[in-house]
Amino acid sequence: MNLVWHRADLRLHDNPALAEALRSGPTIGLVVFDSQILHNTTPRRRAWFYQNTAALREAYAQRGGTLLVRTGLPWEVLPQTVAELGIQKVFAVYNSTPYARYRDTQVANALKGQIGWFDGQYIHEPDAIVKPDGGPYTVFTPYSKRWWAAREPVLLEAPTHFPPLNLPPDYNLGSIPQEASDVPLPPAGEEVALRALEVFLRDKLSSYHQTRDGLAGEGVSRLSYYFTLGVLSPRLAAQKALQVGGEGARKWVNELCWRDFSGDLLYHRPQMMTQAFDPRWNDLPWNDDSELFETWLHGQTGIPVVDACMRELQATGFLSNRGRMVVAQFAVKLALLPWQKCERAFRNLLLDGDNASNLQGWHWAGGLGVDAAPYFRVFNLITQAETHDPQGVWLKRWVPESGGRAHPYKTPVIDLDAARRRYLAAAEKIAKG
Ligand SMILES: Cc1cc2nc3c(=O)[nH]c(=O)nc-3n(C[C@H](O)[C@H](O)[C@H](O)COP(=O)(O)OP(=O)(O)OC[C@H]3O[C@@H](n4cnc5c(N)ncnc54)[C@H](O)[C@@H]3O)c2cc1C
Repeated sequence: MNLVWHRADLRLHDNPALAEALRSGPTIGLVVFDSQILHNTTPRRRAWFYQNTAALREAYAQRGGTLLVRTGLPWEVLPQTVAELGIQKVFAVYNSTPYARYRDTQVANALKGQIGWFDGQYIHEPDAIVKPDGGPYTVFTPYSKRWWAAREPVLLEAPTHFPPLNLPPDYNLGSIPQEASDVPLPPAGEEVALRALEVFLRDKLSSYHQTRDGLAGEGVSRLSYYFTLGVLSPRLAAQKALQVGGEGARKWVNELCWRDFSGDLLYHRPQMMTQAFDPRWNDLPWNDDSELFETWLHGQTGIPVVDACMRELQATGFLSNRGRMVVAQFAVKLALLPWQKCERAFRNLLLDGDNASNLQGWHWAGGLGVDAAPYFRVFNLITQAETHDPQGVWLKRWVPESGGRAHPYKTPVIDLDAARRRYLAAAEKIAKG
Protein backbone atom coordinates (compact mmCIF):
# COMPACT_ATOMS: atom_id res chain seq x y z
CA MET A 1 0.00 0.00 0.00
CA ASN A 2 1.19 3.60 -0.78
CA LEU A 3 0.55 6.71 1.23
CA VAL A 4 -0.03 10.27 0.00
CA TRP A 5 0.90 12.86 2.57
CA HIS A 6 -1.24 15.94 1.79
CA ARG A 7 0.08 19.28 3.01
CA ALA A 8 -0.67 22.41 0.95
CA ASP A 9 -2.40 20.23 -1.66
CA LEU A 10 -5.77 19.42 -0.11
CA ARG A 11 -7.23 18.20 -3.39
CA LEU A 12 -7.70 15.14 -5.57
CA HIS A 13 -7.71 16.90 -8.97
CA ASP A 14 -4.42 17.68 -10.66
CA ASN A 15 -2.42 16.17 -7.83
CA PRO A 16 0.80 14.63 -9.23
CA ALA A 17 1.71 12.92 -5.95
CA LEU A 18 -1.66 11.20 -5.74
CA ALA A 19 -1.70 10.26 -9.43
CA GLU A 20 1.74 8.66 -9.19
CA ALA A 21 0.90 6.80 -5.97
CA LEU A 22 -2.24 5.34 -7.54
CA ARG A 23 -0.32 4.32 -10.64
CA SER A 24 1.82 2.06 -8.51
CA GLY A 25 -0.84 0.53 -6.26
CA PRO A 26 -3.61 0.97 -3.68
CA THR A 27 -3.22 4.25 -1.85
CA ILE A 28 -4.30 5.82 1.41
CA GLY A 29 -4.22 9.58 2.16
CA LEU A 30 -2.85 11.29 5.26
CA VAL A 31 -3.06 14.81 6.68
CA VAL A 32 -0.89 15.61 9.70
CA PHE A 33 -2.05 18.44 11.93
CA ASP A 34 1.45 19.70 12.49
CA SER A 35 1.68 21.11 15.99
CA GLN A 36 4.59 23.37 14.95
CA ILE A 37 2.36 25.15 12.44
CA LEU A 38 -1.03 25.03 14.12
CA HIS A 39 0.12 26.28 17.51
CA ASN A 40 1.54 29.38 15.87
CA THR A 41 -1.52 30.45 13.97
CA THR A 42 -5.03 31.78 14.65
CA PRO A 43 -8.38 30.02 15.19
CA ARG A 44 -9.71 31.27 11.84
CA ARG A 45 -6.78 29.77 9.96
CA ARG A 46 -6.88 26.50 11.89
CA ALA A 47 -10.64 26.23 11.33
CA TRP A 48 -10.16 26.86 7.61
CA PHE A 49 -7.52 24.11 7.44
CA TYR A 50 -9.70 21.65 9.38
CA GLN A 51 -12.74 22.33 7.20
CA ASN A 52 -10.80 21.77 4.01
CA THR A 53 -9.33 18.58 5.45
CA ALA A 54 -12.87 17.40 6.24
CA ALA A 55 -13.88 18.17 2.65
CA LEU A 56 -10.90 16.19 1.35
CA ARG A 57 -11.83 13.24 3.57
CA GLU A 58 -15.34 13.39 2.12
CA ALA A 59 -13.93 13.49 -1.44
CA TYR A 60 -11.85 10.38 -0.69
CA ALA A 61 -14.84 8.60 0.84
CA GLN A 62 -17.11 9.39 -2.14
CA ARG A 63 -14.62 7.47 -4.31
CA GLY A 64 -14.21 4.57 -1.92
CA GLY A 65 -10.94 5.94 -0.51
CA THR A 66 -9.65 6.68 2.99
CA LEU A 67 -7.98 9.75 4.44
CA LEU A 68 -6.20 9.35 7.77
CA VAL A 69 -5.59 12.29 10.05
CA ARG A 70 -3.01 12.51 12.81
CA THR A 71 -1.79 15.25 15.14
CA GLY A 72 1.86 15.73 16.03
CA LEU A 73 5.26 16.22 14.49
CA PRO A 74 5.43 14.85 10.94
CA TRP A 75 8.85 13.25 11.47
CA GLU A 76 7.31 11.20 14.29
CA VAL A 77 3.87 10.58 12.78
CA LEU A 78 5.04 9.45 9.33
CA PRO A 79 7.44 6.67 10.41
CA GLN A 80 4.87 5.39 12.89
CA THR A 81 2.06 5.30 10.30
CA VAL A 82 4.35 3.71 7.70
CA ALA A 83 5.29 0.98 10.18
CA GLU A 84 1.71 0.38 11.36
CA LEU A 85 0.35 -0.04 7.83
CA GLY A 86 3.39 -1.57 6.13
CA ILE A 87 3.45 1.31 3.64
CA GLN A 88 5.72 0.74 0.65
CA LYS A 89 6.27 4.33 -0.35
CA VAL A 90 5.17 7.83 0.64
CA PHE A 91 4.29 10.42 -2.03
CA ALA A 92 4.02 14.17 -1.41
CA VAL A 93 3.74 17.46 -3.29
CA TYR A 94 6.89 19.47 -2.71
CA ASN A 95 6.71 22.55 -0.42
CA SER A 96 9.47 25.11 -0.40
CA THR A 97 9.17 27.43 2.61
CA PRO A 98 12.12 27.33 5.03
CA TYR A 99 10.11 25.40 7.63
CA ALA A 100 8.74 22.98 5.03
CA ARG A 101 12.24 22.21 3.80
CA TYR A 102 13.45 21.58 7.34
CA ARG A 103 10.41 19.41 8.10
CA ASP A 104 10.72 17.42 4.89
CA THR A 105 14.40 16.74 5.45
CA GLN A 106 13.56 15.41 8.91
CA VAL A 107 10.81 13.22 7.49
CA ALA A 108 12.95 11.94 4.59
CA ASN A 109 15.70 11.00 7.06
CA ALA A 110 13.22 9.26 9.35
CA LEU A 111 11.78 7.33 6.38
CA LYS A 112 15.24 6.50 5.05
CA GLY A 113 14.44 7.89 1.63
CA GLN A 114 11.14 6.00 1.25
CA ILE A 115 9.44 9.21 0.02
CA GLY A 116 9.04 10.84 -3.39
CA TRP A 117 8.43 14.54 -4.09
CA PHE A 118 6.22 15.92 -6.86
CA ASP A 119 5.31 19.29 -8.40
CA GLY A 120 1.89 20.83 -7.97
CA GLN A 121 1.98 23.69 -5.51
CA TYR A 122 2.85 26.20 -8.21
CA ILE A 123 2.48 26.42 -11.96
CA HIS A 124 6.26 26.49 -12.24
CA GLU A 125 7.98 25.41 -9.05
CA PRO A 126 10.69 27.42 -7.30
CA ASP A 127 14.02 27.15 -9.11
CA ALA A 128 12.35 26.03 -12.35
CA ILE A 129 12.54 29.49 -13.95
CA VAL A 130 16.15 30.62 -13.93
CA LYS A 131 18.29 33.22 -15.66
CA PRO A 132 20.33 32.14 -18.69
CA ASP A 133 23.33 31.81 -16.33
CA GLY A 134 21.30 29.47 -14.07
CA GLY A 135 20.90 31.97 -11.23
CA PRO A 136 17.61 33.10 -9.67
CA TYR A 137 15.72 36.19 -10.80
CA THR A 138 15.22 39.15 -8.46
CA VAL A 139 13.06 41.28 -10.75
CA PHE A 140 9.58 40.24 -11.84
CA THR A 141 9.48 41.36 -15.49
CA PRO A 142 12.37 39.20 -16.79
CA TYR A 143 11.18 36.32 -14.57
CA SER A 144 7.70 36.60 -16.05
CA LYS A 145 9.02 36.61 -19.64
CA ARG A 146 10.70 33.25 -19.05
CA TRP A 147 7.71 31.99 -17.10
CA TRP A 148 5.31 32.73 -19.96
CA ALA A 149 7.67 31.00 -22.40
CA ALA A 150 7.95 27.82 -20.29
CA ARG A 151 6.03 24.70 -21.24
CA GLU A 152 2.60 24.34 -19.57
CA PRO A 153 2.42 21.50 -17.05
CA VAL A 154 0.32 18.47 -18.00
CA LEU A 155 -2.92 18.45 -15.99
CA LEU A 156 -4.14 15.36 -14.16
CA GLU A 157 -7.72 14.22 -13.58
CA ALA A 158 -8.99 13.39 -10.10
CA PRO A 159 -9.28 9.61 -9.60
CA THR A 160 -12.80 8.27 -10.11
CA HIS A 161 -12.34 5.56 -7.49
CA PHE A 162 -9.72 4.22 -5.06
CA PRO A 163 -8.79 0.52 -5.09
CA PRO A 164 -9.82 -1.22 -1.86
CA LEU A 165 -7.36 -1.24 1.06
CA ASN A 166 -6.49 -3.92 3.52
CA LEU A 167 -6.52 -1.96 6.77
CA PRO A 168 -6.08 -3.63 10.18
CA PRO A 169 -9.48 -4.20 11.85
CA ASP A 170 -10.68 -1.18 13.90
CA TYR A 171 -7.78 0.89 12.62
CA ASN A 172 -8.12 4.41 14.02
CA LEU A 173 -8.58 6.84 11.11
CA GLY A 174 -8.25 9.88 13.40
CA SER A 175 -10.72 12.68 13.95
CA ILE A 176 -10.68 16.24 12.67
CA PRO A 177 -10.99 18.90 15.38
CA GLN A 178 -13.97 21.23 15.23
CA GLU A 179 -12.69 24.71 15.89
CA ALA A 180 -14.84 27.83 15.87
CA SER A 181 -13.64 30.61 13.59
CA ASP A 182 -13.98 34.28 14.59
CA VAL A 183 -14.93 35.14 10.99
CA PRO A 184 -17.47 33.53 8.64
CA LEU A 185 -15.55 31.03 6.52
CA PRO A 186 -16.14 30.49 2.81
CA PRO A 187 -17.45 27.06 1.85
CA ALA A 188 -14.61 24.53 1.93
CA GLY A 189 -13.38 21.89 -0.49
CA GLU A 190 -12.30 21.44 -4.08
CA GLU A 191 -15.77 20.93 -5.50
CA VAL A 192 -16.81 24.40 -4.32
CA ALA A 193 -13.48 25.91 -5.35
CA LEU A 194 -13.78 24.49 -8.87
CA ARG A 195 -17.30 25.92 -9.14
CA ALA A 196 -16.11 29.31 -7.84
CA LEU A 197 -13.41 29.27 -10.50
CA GLU A 198 -16.00 28.62 -13.24
CA VAL A 199 -18.20 31.47 -11.98
CA PHE A 200 -15.24 33.87 -11.91
CA LEU A 201 -14.16 32.86 -15.43
CA ARG A 202 -17.69 33.36 -16.72
CA ASP A 203 -18.59 36.60 -14.93
CA LYS A 204 -15.46 38.57 -14.14
CA LEU A 205 -12.42 37.43 -16.07
CA SER A 206 -13.04 39.51 -19.20
CA SER A 207 -13.01 42.78 -17.22
CA TYR A 208 -10.43 41.74 -14.60
CA HIS A 209 -7.69 44.02 -15.99
CA GLN A 210 -9.98 47.02 -15.51
CA THR A 211 -11.58 46.18 -12.17
CA ARG A 212 -8.91 44.33 -10.19
CA ASP A 213 -7.62 47.41 -8.41
CA GLY A 214 -10.76 48.38 -6.50
CA LEU A 215 -10.49 48.61 -2.72
CA ALA A 216 -13.74 46.70 -2.31
CA GLY A 217 -12.17 43.67 -4.01
CA GLU A 218 -15.22 43.09 -6.21
CA GLY A 219 -13.61 42.51 -9.59
CA VAL A 220 -11.30 39.76 -8.41
CA SER A 221 -11.57 35.99 -8.01
CA ARG A 222 -11.23 35.61 -4.22
CA LEU A 223 -9.72 32.21 -4.93
CA SER A 224 -6.54 32.89 -2.97
CA TYR A 225 -7.72 31.05 0.14
CA TYR A 226 -8.21 27.95 -2.02
CA PHE A 227 -4.83 28.31 -3.73
CA THR A 228 -3.00 28.74 -0.40
CA LEU A 229 -4.11 25.32 0.86
CA GLY A 230 -3.88 23.79 -2.59
CA VAL A 231 -7.61 23.08 -2.59
CA LEU A 232 -7.59 24.44 -6.14
CA SER A 233 -4.79 23.70 -8.60
CA PRO A 234 -3.20 26.92 -9.88
CA ARG A 235 -2.07 24.96 -12.96
CA LEU A 236 -5.65 24.06 -13.83
CA ALA A 237 -6.93 27.57 -13.05
CA ALA A 238 -4.36 29.20 -15.33
CA GLN A 239 -5.01 26.84 -18.22
CA LYS A 240 -8.77 27.32 -17.97
CA ALA A 241 -8.37 31.11 -17.90
CA LEU A 242 -6.09 31.05 -20.95
CA GLN A 243 -8.64 28.92 -22.80
CA VAL A 244 -11.15 31.73 -22.25
CA GLY A 245 -8.52 34.20 -23.48
CA GLY A 246 -8.45 37.99 -23.71
CA GLU A 247 -6.71 40.78 -21.84
CA GLY A 248 -8.38 39.97 -18.53
CA ALA A 249 -7.19 36.38 -18.71
CA ARG A 250 -3.64 37.39 -19.47
CA LYS A 251 -3.58 39.83 -16.56
CA TRP A 252 -5.09 37.28 -14.17
CA VAL A 253 -2.65 34.55 -15.11
CA ASN A 254 0.12 37.09 -14.69
CA GLU A 255 -0.97 37.41 -11.05
CA LEU A 256 -0.54 33.66 -10.70
CA CYS A 257 2.91 34.26 -12.12
CA TRP A 258 3.49 36.71 -9.23
CA ARG A 259 2.53 33.88 -6.90
CA ASP A 260 5.18 31.63 -8.47
CA PHE A 261 7.72 34.48 -8.38
CA SER A 262 7.01 34.88 -4.63
CA GLY A 263 7.69 31.19 -4.05
CA ASP A 264 10.91 31.42 -6.05
CA LEU A 265 12.12 34.50 -4.13
CA LEU A 266 11.61 32.85 -0.74
CA TYR A 267 13.15 29.57 -1.90
CA HIS A 268 16.36 31.32 -2.90
CA ARG A 269 16.39 33.85 -0.04
CA PRO A 270 14.96 32.32 3.13
CA GLN A 271 16.51 35.22 5.03
CA MET A 272 13.66 37.42 3.80
CA MET A 273 11.58 35.88 6.61
CA THR A 274 13.38 38.25 8.98
CA GLN A 275 15.69 40.54 6.99
CA ALA A 276 14.95 43.13 4.33
CA PHE A 277 15.51 41.67 0.86
CA ASP A 278 17.96 44.51 0.31
CA PRO A 279 19.70 44.57 3.72
CA ARG A 280 20.34 48.30 3.53
CA TRP A 281 16.70 48.84 4.48
CA ASN A 282 17.27 47.08 7.81
CA ASP A 283 18.74 50.43 8.88
CA LEU A 284 15.57 52.51 8.58
CA PRO A 285 14.79 54.16 11.96
CA TRP A 286 12.17 51.59 13.00
CA ASN A 287 9.73 52.64 15.69
CA ASP A 288 8.60 49.67 17.82
CA ASP A 289 5.70 51.56 19.38
CA SER A 290 3.18 48.95 20.54
CA GLU A 291 0.36 51.47 20.92
CA LEU A 292 0.80 52.64 17.34
CA PHE A 293 1.00 48.99 16.22
CA GLU A 294 -2.32 48.22 17.95
CA THR A 295 -4.10 51.22 16.40
CA TRP A 296 -2.88 50.05 12.98
CA LEU A 297 -3.84 46.42 13.61
CA HIS A 298 -7.35 47.26 14.80
CA GLY A 299 -8.14 50.05 12.34
CA GLN A 300 -8.13 52.98 14.75
CA THR A 301 -5.54 55.29 13.16
CA GLY A 302 -8.03 57.98 12.13
CA ILE A 303 -7.06 57.55 8.45
CA PRO A 304 -10.17 56.15 6.77
CA VAL A 305 -8.53 54.01 4.08
CA VAL A 306 -6.12 52.36 6.54
CA ASP A 307 -8.83 51.76 9.12
CA ALA A 308 -11.31 50.41 6.57
CA CYS A 309 -8.72 47.91 5.33
CA MET A 310 -7.75 46.65 8.76
CA ARG A 311 -11.33 46.45 10.00
CA GLU A 312 -12.38 44.52 6.89
CA LEU A 313 -9.46 42.14 7.35
CA GLN A 314 -10.24 41.64 11.04
CA ALA A 315 -13.90 40.99 10.29
CA THR A 316 -13.60 38.79 7.19
CA GLY A 317 -10.08 37.36 6.79
CA PHE A 318 -9.83 38.89 3.29
CA LEU A 319 -8.57 42.16 1.83
CA SER A 320 -8.10 43.40 -1.75
CA ASN A 321 -4.61 43.61 -3.18
CA ARG A 322 -4.88 47.41 -3.27
CA GLY A 323 -5.88 47.42 0.41
CA ARG A 324 -2.93 45.18 1.29
CA MET A 325 -0.53 47.55 -0.44
CA VAL A 326 -2.05 50.54 1.37
CA VAL A 327 -1.78 49.13 4.89
CA ALA A 328 1.69 47.70 4.33
CA GLN A 329 2.94 51.05 3.01
CA PHE A 330 1.39 52.89 5.92
CA ALA A 331 2.98 50.51 8.45
CA VAL A 332 6.44 50.39 6.84
CA LYS A 333 7.01 53.79 5.27
CA LEU A 334 4.88 56.14 7.36
CA ALA A 335 4.63 54.52 10.80
CA LEU A 336 8.06 52.82 10.49
CA LEU A 337 6.67 49.92 12.52
CA PRO A 338 8.98 46.86 12.49
CA TRP A 339 7.77 45.19 9.30
CA GLN A 340 8.43 41.65 10.57
CA LYS A 341 5.93 42.09 13.41
CA CYS A 342 3.32 43.59 11.07
CA GLU A 343 3.84 40.95 8.38
CA ARG A 344 3.31 38.13 10.88
CA ALA A 345 0.19 39.67 12.45
CA PHE A 346 -1.23 40.45 9.00
CA ARG A 347 -0.60 36.90 7.71
CA ASN A 348 -2.38 35.41 10.69
CA LEU A 349 -5.50 37.45 9.93
CA LEU A 350 -5.62 36.35 6.29
CA LEU A 351 -7.41 33.15 5.34
CA ASP A 352 -5.05 33.06 2.36
CA GLY A 353 -2.02 33.88 4.53
CA ASP A 354 1.00 32.43 2.79
CA ASN A 355 4.63 32.94 3.77
CA ALA A 356 5.96 33.50 0.27
CA SER A 357 3.23 35.79 -1.11
CA ASN A 358 2.91 37.76 2.10
CA LEU A 359 6.64 38.32 2.43
CA GLN A 360 6.89 39.35 -1.20
CA GLY A 361 3.90 41.69 -0.76
CA TRP A 362 5.34 43.34 2.34
CA HIS A 363 8.76 43.71 0.80
CA TRP A 364 7.33 45.10 -2.41
CA ALA A 365 4.84 47.53 -0.86
CA GLY A 366 7.33 48.56 1.81
CA GLY A 367 10.08 49.20 -0.76
CA LEU A 368 12.40 46.75 1.02
CA GLY A 369 14.20 45.69 -2.12
CA VAL A 370 11.96 43.15 -3.89
CA ASP A 371 11.58 43.77 -7.62
CA ALA A 372 12.14 47.27 -8.91
CA ALA A 373 9.71 49.04 -6.54
CA PRO A 374 11.36 52.39 -5.76
CA TYR A 375 11.74 53.52 -2.15
CA PHE A 376 10.59 57.07 -2.94
CA ARG A 377 7.09 56.06 -4.04
CA VAL A 378 4.89 56.82 -1.03
CA PHE A 379 1.13 56.52 -1.44
CA ASN A 380 -1.04 59.53 -0.77
CA LEU A 381 -3.65 57.85 1.43
CA ILE A 382 -6.35 60.34 0.53
CA THR A 383 -6.04 59.91 -3.23
CA GLN A 384 -5.71 56.13 -2.86
CA ALA A 385 -9.20 56.07 -1.36
CA GLU A 386 -10.65 58.61 -3.80
CA THR A 387 -9.26 56.77 -6.83
CA HIS A 388 -9.99 53.20 -5.83
CA ASP A 389 -13.30 53.73 -4.02
CA PRO A 390 -14.63 56.81 -5.83
CA GLN A 391 -18.13 56.71 -4.33
CA GLY A 392 -16.83 56.05 -0.81
CA VAL A 393 -19.28 53.16 -0.41
CA TRP A 394 -16.67 50.67 0.76
CA LEU A 395 -15.11 53.28 3.07
CA LYS A 396 -18.45 54.09 4.66
CA ARG A 397 -19.23 50.43 5.16
CA TRP A 398 -16.10 49.78 7.22
CA VAL A 399 -15.60 53.21 8.77
CA PRO A 400 -19.08 54.71 9.15
CA GLU A 401 -17.63 57.62 11.14
CA SER A 402 -15.79 58.75 7.96
CA GLY A 403 -19.12 59.32 6.17
CA GLY A 404 -17.40 57.77 3.13
CA ARG A 405 -14.90 60.66 2.91
CA ALA A 406 -11.21 59.99 2.45
CA HIS A 407 -9.90 62.69 4.82
CA PRO A 408 -9.13 61.81 8.46
CA TYR A 409 -12.27 61.53 10.56
CA LYS A 410 -10.32 62.32 13.74
CA THR A 411 -6.78 63.48 14.52
CA PRO A 412 -4.62 60.76 12.95
CA VAL A 413 -2.19 58.83 15.14
CA ILE A 414 0.64 60.22 13.05
CA ASP A 415 1.03 63.42 11.10
CA LEU A 416 1.08 62.06 7.54
CA ASP A 417 3.10 64.88 5.98
CA ALA A 418 5.73 64.86 8.72
CA ALA A 419 5.92 61.04 8.57
CA ARG A 420 6.42 61.13 4.84
CA ARG A 421 9.24 63.68 5.14
CA ARG A 422 10.89 61.69 7.94
CA TYR A 423 10.77 58.47 5.90
CA LEU A 424 12.04 60.07 2.70
CA ALA A 425 14.94 61.76 4.50
CA ALA A 426 16.01 58.50 6.15
CA ALA A 427 15.48 56.44 2.98
CA GLU A 428 17.39 58.88 0.81
CA LYS A 429 20.34 58.77 3.17
CA ILE A 430 20.39 54.96 2.97
CA ALA A 431 19.87 54.89 -0.81
CA LYS A 432 22.73 57.32 -1.40
CA GLY A 433 24.97 55.36 0.95
C1 LIG B 1 1.18 43.33 1.58
C2 LIG B 1 0.63 42.17 0.79
C3 LIG B 1 0.44 40.94 1.40
C4 LIG B 1 -0.07 39.85 0.66
N1 LIG B 1 -0.24 38.64 1.30
C5 LIG B 1 -0.70 37.57 0.59
C6 LIG B 1 -0.85 36.31 1.22
O1 LIG B 1 -0.52 36.12 2.40
N2 LIG B 1 -1.36 35.28 0.48
C7 LIG B 1 -1.71 35.44 -0.85
O2 LIG B 1 -2.19 34.49 -1.45
N3 LIG B 1 -1.54 36.63 -1.47
C8 LIG B 1 -1.05 37.69 -0.80
N4 LIG B 1 -0.90 38.90 -1.44
C9 LIG B 1 -1.15 38.98 -2.89
C10 LIG B 1 -2.58 39.42 -3.30
O3 LIG B 1 -2.94 40.59 -2.64
C11 LIG B 1 -3.63 38.33 -3.04
O4 LIG B 1 -3.19 37.11 -3.58
C12 LIG B 1 -4.95 38.69 -3.70
O5 LIG B 1 -5.40 39.95 -3.24
C13 LIG B 1 -5.97 37.61 -3.38
O6 LIG B 1 -7.21 37.93 -3.94
P1 LIG B 1 -7.79 37.14 -5.18
O7 LIG B 1 -7.72 35.69 -4.97
O8 LIG B 1 -9.11 37.73 -5.47
O9 LIG B 1 -6.75 37.54 -6.29
P2 LIG B 1 -6.85 37.68 -7.91
O10 LIG B 1 -6.68 39.11 -8.19
O11 LIG B 1 -8.11 37.02 -8.39
O12 LIG B 1 -5.60 36.90 -8.40
C14 LIG B 1 -5.57 35.48 -8.64
C15 LIG B 1 -4.55 34.79 -7.80
O13 LIG B 1 -3.25 35.24 -8.14
C16 LIG B 1 -2.41 35.26 -6.97
N5 LIG B 1 -1.99 36.64 -6.73
C17 LIG B 1 -2.66 37.77 -7.03
N6 LIG B 1 -1.92 38.86 -6.75
C18 LIG B 1 -0.75 38.40 -6.25
C19 LIG B 1 0.43 39.04 -5.77
N7 LIG B 1 0.56 40.36 -5.77
N8 LIG B 1 1.41 38.26 -5.29
C20 LIG B 1 1.31 36.91 -5.27
N9 LIG B 1 0.22 36.26 -5.73
C21 LIG B 1 -0.80 36.98 -6.21
C22 LIG B 1 -3.27 34.75 -5.82
O14 LIG B 1 -3.05 33.38 -5.66
C23 LIG B 1 -4.68 35.05 -6.31
O15 LIG B 1 -5.66 34.22 -5.75
C24 LIG B 1 -0.38 40.00 -0.72
C25 LIG B 1 -0.18 41.26 -1.33
C26 LIG B 1 0.33 42.33 -0.60
C27 LIG B 1 0.52 43.66 -1.27
